[in-house]
Amino acid sequence: MHELSVTQSIVDSVLGEMNARGLERVGAVHLKLGRMTTFVPDCVKFYYDALTADTALAGSELIIEEVNVTGCCNNCGAELEFEEPFFICPECGSVDIEVLTGREILINALEVPDEGDIRVGNKGR
Ligand SMILES: [Zn+2]
Repeated sequence: MHELSVTQSIVDSVLGEMNARGLERVGAVHLKLGRMTTFVPDCVKFYYDALTADTALAGSELIIEEVNVTGCCNNCGAELEFEEPFFICPECGSVDIEVLTGREILINALEVPDEGDIRVGNKGR
């Protein structure tokens, strides 16, 4: 369920971006997906194909880059990377961790035939 609504908003953002830039076709959409979101990439791709079937994005590919969860310990300053959402600093045992990456759902770039990659940056968050 979550994947469906988040995928719809990704599709809407990309279509809006295409409109704004006057693009008729996009070959691929690059998405950064933080592991903390718990969204399943295959599931997002499945919905993407279904939701774009009748749009200008039909036939385009969604390329998902998963982003590891990283953080910084507010107690000792250690920079940390987590495989599980299990936030205890291995250096000092503190649970006061500031999460830096891993929450993002970010349209990173659009691949446009004949024009190459277009960086989109922070849209679609
Ligand atoms: Zn620490």
